[in-house]
Amino acid sequence: MAQFFCQICDSEFKSYNKNAKYCSQKCKGKAYIKHSIKKCKICRKEYKPIRATSKFCSLKCCAADKKNTIVLIPFFVSIRYSNLTNSLDLEHFLY
Ligand SMILES: [Zn+2]
Ligand SMILES: [Zn+2]
Repeated sequence: MAQFFCQICDSEFKSYNKNAKYCSQKCKGKAYIKHSIKKCKICRKEYKPIRATSKFCSLKCCAADKKNTIVLIPFFVSIRYSNLTNSLDLEHFLY
């Protein structure tokens, strides 16, 4: 059992987990909120990423990053088509 300091509240705690970072579920939850807002690399908008490694608010911004353009364009186009059909369906229900 090792001694750790909680990264959120700085209190000392013991854990069997070598990678422990937080004293309680409460602090773990706070840490999640703290890390959940990121700034998009492209449009500088704040967003909640799905993955910790994400750098962009949307596929559009991801594709705007030159490195990802070639990889993402086919995917991006298919998303746009599905959005189009979704909005057509919505119109059908609304009017
Ligand atoms: Zn804590
Ligand atoms: Zn963006």
